[in-house]
Amino acid sequence: MVEAAASRIPSCSYCGEPAVIYQPERRRHLCGTHLVRDVENRVEATIREEDLIRPGDRVAVGLSGGKDSTALLIILSRLLSKIPEAKLIAITIDEGIAGYRSDTIKSAEELTRSLGVEHRIISFYDMVGRDLDTILRGREPQACTVCGILRKKALMDTSRACDATVIATGHNLDDEAQSVLMNALRGDLPRLIRNAGAGRPALFLARVKPLAAVTEKEIAAYLFVQGRFPVLPECPYTRYALRAEVRGLLAGLESRHPGTMARLVESKKKIERYTTGVPVMEPLHRCRECGDPCSGELCQVCRLRCSLDL
Ligand code: SF4
Ligand code: ZN
Repeated sequence: MVEAAASRIPSCSYCGEPAVIYQPERRRHLCGTHLVRDVENRVEATIREEDLIRPGDRVAVGLSGGKDSTALLIILSRLLSKIPEAKLIAITIDEGIAGYRSDTIKSAEELTRSLGVEHRIISFYDMVGRDLDTILRGREPQACTVCGILRKKALMDTSRACDATVIATGHNLDDEAQSVLMNALRGDLPRLIRNAGAGRPALFLARVKPLAAVTEKEIAAYLFVQGRFPVLPECPYTRYALRAEVRGLLAGLESRHPGTMARLVESKKKIERYTTGVPVMEPLHRCRECGDPCSGELCQVCRLRCSLDL
């Protein structure tokens, strides 16, 4: 019986060892060793081809402690020796979400300690004097919008305070595909055709996504075969997120029509190429209150502070 079950496990297309994943786009099975090598090689290629990290960079890595940012920090710490003089600093944002964030912070602390990476933790409480649970009382459906705006600000400000030259986040191919579809569903054309943080913008600290070509499934398997998969609770506000519905929809489409997510991301890149130079946003200037770059009179954070009395 056991032998029959074992014989049904597909073999790695390269070495014949039992496979841990099938990559439908590439029509191949990979064992743990070849999967780890493949993921790291592809991330390295993305960094090189898109010029994401340069010699001498101080890279602030947004580390939630979840699987994507965990994989990102592990991979970057392994690739660092190939980028002269580059340095990593991990930054964890504590939004103040009861029953969720303390576990992920613990996971982030253990990881940075094991990798020997400098680690900073900044809380919403430090930033605006209240935690997310308190801010959201009575307005829970707005959770991810409020959280996203404050988190972006916390990451940006802490990265600047650390003298970072670039911010790296763990967004993967699934996240990118979800964002394309969400922006289309919201009718948000500027976001749909703008590559946020691309290049080295003058007013913003550049944001890069080295895992953007790797799927969530590959990242999970990458961590799992190395015994580094973090088993953590889910954010209690996830159920209010449009992203959660879009994720379910895309996962179903991907399993029935492999390559759907990659094609969605590719279509965004094509739209960006076709619309290069087309003005879709107000010109950037400085926020009247805080001086951060923004397109209106007030930046998103200052508008939020006014409306929530923060
Ligand atoms: Fe914040 Fe929403 Fe993510 Fe929870 S699910 S951490 S509220 S963005
Ligand atoms: Zn402002």
